[in-house]
Amino acid sequence: MGADLEITAQVRIVTSVAPYVTAANALQAIKLAHEDGFSGVELNEDHLHQLVQVKPNCLRLMRTYSADKHMINSLHKTLHRPSIDSPDQSERKRAVEYTIKTLDYMEVAGIYRMVLHSFSDLPAFFCLKGECANKAGYFVGCNAVKIYGIFAPVLKAYRQTRKKEFQENFVHSLSEIAKYAADRNVDGKPIEIVLEEHYSDAIDYDSVPYGRGNFANVIRGIDTAHQLIRTGRNTDLSEINELIHFHAVDTNGVIDDHRTIGRGKVNFENSLSTAIGKNLTDTIVLEDGTRNSALKSKEVLISMIRRISTTVSSRSV
Ligand SMILES: [Zn+2]
Repeated sequence: MGADLEITAQVRIVTSVAPYVTAANALQAIKLAHEDGFSGVELNEDHLHQLVQVKPNCLRLMRTYSADKHMINSLHKTLHRPSIDSPDQSERKRAVEYTIKTLDYMEVAGIYRMVLHSFSDLPAFFCLKGECANKAGYFVGCNAVKIYGIFAPVLKAYRQTRKKEFQENFVHSLSEIAKYAADRNVDGKPIEIVLEEHYSDAIDYDSVPYGRGNFANVIRGIDTAHQLIRTGRNTDLSEINELIHFHAVDTNGVIDDHRTIGRGKVNFENSLSTAIGKNLTDTIVLEDGTRNSALKSKEVLISMIRRISTTVSSRSV
């Protein structure tokens, strides 16, 4: 039993802010997630900006509360335009400037990691407009995101046709963002930038020099749902040896519907046992849409991790 607890303590379960976003601002969300037994929250960039506008002191409060409760918080960049890979230089610049402002907030709030996709292409219209998301607006926005998934092959084809241009602009932005993050300090370490895979992306993720040179603080972001939709296969981490940021998300395999773990087509056993066995990450992030779903997913995940950890440790004896 003692060993069991020790093993599950190696991997901490973090939730996205989505289950709390209509009821709570970014600070309240951290408190609710703590009460729900999560080890941290992956905040949303726009949600955080909205709170800072009305309560600038929230950043210090977040830092104090999280340090006190040992919460490890990360932040997911917005899915709304402007996009960091835009071939329109003024749009690209606006996107980078917004990101840099966020990195300043993160340093004050003690948020150690920023997750981004190579692009964000939802219309700004759906962007959050208050410190909590409007319930009706959020519902419409979520469904827009799901329906949007249907256009993924078309979007991917479009990104493919202009791949070189998008990729160049993205890499330019990523190096500016990573450099700025490298000079920020959270608990004595630079802020880390996660490049997370996206099902309608055309970027060659293997070609990114994670952890090296100008990208010393850039980490590979794995998402089990995006992976399955993008490649038709379950996540295989056997070729990966560097640190990863891990999103454990279930899906019906067609759209990114963020369903409860175990209710979709993702098989987590392989990727989880490789991640744990090879020590690729010490946090697993859930991205469920509701509080009930997130709590259920946490239970499912904990029992999976216990089972895997027992197998991994008995194999290594
Ligand atoms: Zn994800």
